[in-house]
Amino acid sequence: MRILVTNDDGYLAGGLRALADAAGALGEVHVVAPDREQSATSHSLTLHYPLRVRKADAQVQVVDGTPTDCVVLAVGELLTDRPDFVLSGVNHGANLGDDVLYSGTVAAAMEATILGIPAVALSYTGRDFEMMPGWTDVLTRLLRQLLVRDDFPAETLLNVNLPPVPPEEVTGVKITSLGRRAYVGSLTRAEDPNGREYFWIGGGESRWWGNPDSDFRAVHEGYISVTPLHLDLTNYRLLEDIGRWGLEL
Ligand code: MN
Repeated sequence: MRILVTNDDGYLAGGLRALADAAGALGEVHVVAPDREQSATSHSLTLHYPLRVRKADAQVQVVDGTPTDCVVLAVGELLTDRPDFVLSGVNHGANLGDDVLYSGTVAAAMEATILGIPAVALSYTGRDFEMMPGWTDVLTRLLRQLLVRDDFPAETLLNVNLPPVPPEEVTGVKITSLGRRAYVGSLTRAEDPNGREYFWIGGGESRWWGNPDSDFRAVHEGYISVTPLHLDLTNYRLLEDIGRWGLEL
């Protein structure tokens, strides 16, 4: 089995290394990853600049673009054979609920799904990223069960979040739905040293809500959360209602 591994934290991230090591027990691993931090770049594609690729080592190729660029280049040009599976992560930070709409990690898996390749996005909800190598065995055990399935759902990716506990304290695995998150105080308005106003998005505190089977509840209870995501955003429940609006020209 050929496995493409990518991420949005850049090719030097510990989470990427742990994921590549875990996948290495299951197949032939090729890493194609951004050369720098690309978190929260979502599904963006570089259209107006040339992209450069260099080899970091025999297994790792580095792209000066986004996670989506990496998947497009890897599948279209860089790998001699099409990968059987794409793994993205392990992201340094949660990708729960509404996070998936901003995440470069999840977008890379989405791009693979669009290309018809089964894909899993993985994220760590804790903060002690230097401990990521300790997760390798748990990741191998989980991925082995996913990669062998011949009924992996089409047009669907799996969004996996690891709980913020040491790997030996994981409670189990839960299949979940996306929760909701709102940030409070994450927009800063201030002045730079030259007296010019600036704005900064980020930080603050988050508030969660959602169904009892929500992803954030599962990781809070020490479970690995696995959420199936599909890419069709159509709100089918509303097709008839909006149809009755009688929009016309
Ligand atoms: Mn990231």
